[in-house]
Amino acid sequence: MIGGGYVGLVSGACFAEFGLHVAVVETNPDRLSALREGRIPIYEPGLDVLVETNARAGRLTFGDDIAQAVAGAEAVFIAVGTPPRNGDGAADLQYVHAAARQIAQALTGYAVIVTKSTVPVGSSRRIAEIIRATRPDLDFDVASNPEFLREGSAIDDCMRPDRVIIGLDQKQPERARRAEAVMQRVYKPLKKIDAPLVFTGLETAELTKYASNSFLAMKISFINEMADLCEKLGANVQELAYGMGLDDRIGSRFLNAGPGYGGSCFPKDTLALSRIAQEAQSGCRLVETTVQVNEARKAAMAGRIIAACGGSVNNKTVAVLGLTFKPETDDMRESASIPILHRLAEGGARLQAYDPVGMDAAKSLLPPETTYCENALATAQDADVLVVLTEWEQFRSISPDALAQRMRNKIIVDLRNIFDPAVMRESGFSYLSVGRP
Ligand code: NAD
Repeated sequence: MIGGGYVGLVSGACFAEFGLHVAVVETNPDRLSALREGRIPIYEPGLDVLVETNARAGRLTFGDDIAQAVAGAEAVFIAVGTPPRNGDGAADLQYVHAAARQIAQALTGYAVIVTKSTVPVGSSRRIAEIIRATRPDLDFDVASNPEFLREGSAIDDCMRPDRVIIGLDQKQPERARRAEAVMQRVYKPLKKIDAPLVFTGLETAELTKYASNSFLAMKISFINEMADLCEKLGANVQELAYGMGLDDRIGSRFLNAGPGYGGSCFPKDTLALSRIAQEAQSGCRLVETTVQVNEARKAAMAGRIIAACGGSVNNKTVAVLGLTFKPETDDMRESASIPILHRLAEGGARLQAYDPVGMDAAKSLLPPETTYCENALATAQDADVLVVLTEWEQFRSISPDALAQRMRNKIIVDLRNIFDPAVMRESGFSYLSVGRP
């Protein structure tokens, strides 16, 4: 497994749990030394136990020596980052291509080289070209196996996936059959739970990942626009979403209005799909609009907080609950909190923030003058407004009276709809949420 980040570490540990022998290669020295010392460099519920058990059983090892890791491997997974390329939003494939070259140099016999990273259509064939150019003698096949795990429930997603998509080079049926046999063995334990293994072409597999993420991002932007409309018309977006979601063609998930989607996947994958479509000269207006709606949403949320403070946050203390892009992760990449807090800081706000696990990762991304607090209630001390940005479970049970005692002005802007408007108003708060009267 090349790359020991959110995807590589979780799927590596899950493969080891399946009973496979997994060697994770990680080049980031901080991440690697943590793993070697038995610490988990990311926050993901349950991962510590899974890694420890499998490492102790000798099925899961960590190192930076790719040659050692791939020696004798039947499948080599690439799970390195594919961040947006500066400027145009296309995926930056430099880490993937570097990994492909390193794998080619290190392999000693036949293996299937499998891309787990999210990569544009055509990447698996490009990886095959790179490997052929680096090692013309090598016998290998490529496969595309995009990862669909969600941070926060990543282990369950890997152990009990809705589906596993495996793209093979169907233009070469003999080779495809050989690679399929290896992939069937990797995922054999999933047969017991009837998880569908979908075998398809390389291009379809690569595109399925972008299409799925973009569809989910579109669903979020859709409900966010409905929330705005509900506010204008006196309707309630939570009840609307419930009513819509009961239709099983629509489904109830991903219909929570909020401050705009973030994270390491949706923003970059929607941008990348727009680029892929542009290059293919094919229309992708829904996705392009989703990107625009989401950017505008984050900016509008900062404006909403400023408006709740009477039009200015200058010299006001803003308490922020939650910084990560969603609960149960320490991932701060593209979190809505980043543009929102920067806008508030520009407006002269004093920021005091709390997040159960995201504060370390937040420090380099948020305004430097932000004060980080020990717990949620400490954040509310002397605040003029309290803003909820991430719906961590522990915030739901905060006592409104305890908040009221600490705050200077009793204003709450709840961008995740975690509190009950009636309860908050009874406790004397001026309470604003998203899409609810
Ligand atoms: P990440 O940045 O957490 O992890 C990537 C790791 O790869 C880093 O630790 C980096 O040091 C390491 N690395 C880079 N080049 C290497 C090399 N040549 N050899 C060894 N290690 C190397 O990224 P991530 O969140 O795990 O995402 C990885 C890929 O999976 C991306 O393409 C992403 O879009 C996709 N993905 C992510 C998620 C998610 O929820 N994070 C879900 C599905 C798919």
